[in-house]
Amino acid sequence: MAVSRCKECGRLVIRLSWSQLRNADECKQKRFLTVSGARKQARDQRLFLPGNVTDRVVRNWLKDPNREPGQMPGMVSATLDAVRESILEKGERIAWKRDLDDRKNIEADCIEAVTKIEPYLLKHVTPFEFEADFRFDAPLRLPRPDGTKETIFLIGYMDIIVRDDQGNIYVFDVKHTKDGQYWRKTVGQLTYYDLAVKLIFGQYTKETGLLQPLCPKPTHPHTVDAQARMELYQRVVKVANDIWNNDNAPNESNEHCGNCEMRMACPKFAPILKDGKKRVKL
Ligand code: SF4
Repeated sequence: MAVSRCKECGRLVIRLSWSQLRNADECKQKRFLTVSGARKQARDQRLFLPGNVTDRVVRNWLKDPNREPGQMPGMVSATLDAVRESILEKGERIAWKRDLDDRKNIEADCIEAVTKIEPYLLKHVTPFEFEADFRFDAPLRLPRPDGTKETIFLIGYMDIIVRDDQGNIYVFDVKHTKDGQYWRKTVGQLTYYDLAVKLIFGQYTKETGLLQPLCPKPTHPHTVDAQARMELYQRVVKVANDIWNNDNAPNESNEHCGNCEMRMACPKFAPILKDGKKRVKL
């Protein structure tokens, strides 16, 4: 939900997730359509299946107060079933590969991932105060164009947040990727978590990073610097102002339209009727 109404004063309250911010960077109309529940092209979830399974196994293991080392591989098969069912229940689809061993290969990949990640969890997470699947709703006061200030909320989940014995805070994101350069795509997301940590706990992260057990380098630490913090803040201010100004204009360029899952609902691509008007008004 991007915008909700305050129960006390009735004003609109912006609630901004990382994916909304990323969508808004691509196209204001895409962000708007995504949060308004417009019909989207059914995305094949096969690509995301192994990552969802690895994430869920790690999360459930960390959340279990009776967890034991070596348990995670045995959780993979049942978790794969549960993730598959939840995808189908949401009306999404899984295009299994023609290879008859597709499911077996996913299971093997996930077992390898959770086996390799365990030593890092035992070293960097479980000895300290931590929370897995940490849900946040962080208030941020922003300037409006008319000179007033208003509170919005950054919302989302962090895979793992840790506070060490010196009081330093770390955020880890679990990535089931084999691409050693994947971290480059996650820098914005880690900066977003860093800002949420500052808003909630009054201090920035000491470090963020990826746990990427299938990569040659299974951890990728990342320190968020002042420049990245300022750029993220400016992005958030811009998106909030677009929402306050009700500016949801589709991009003029088609650069992001080819892969846009909201294309079917986008007014820019609405069919032209015989009278020359588009079926959906801009
Ligand atoms: S199809 Fe293009 S213009 Fe329409 S929402 Fe997607 S990115 Fe924006």
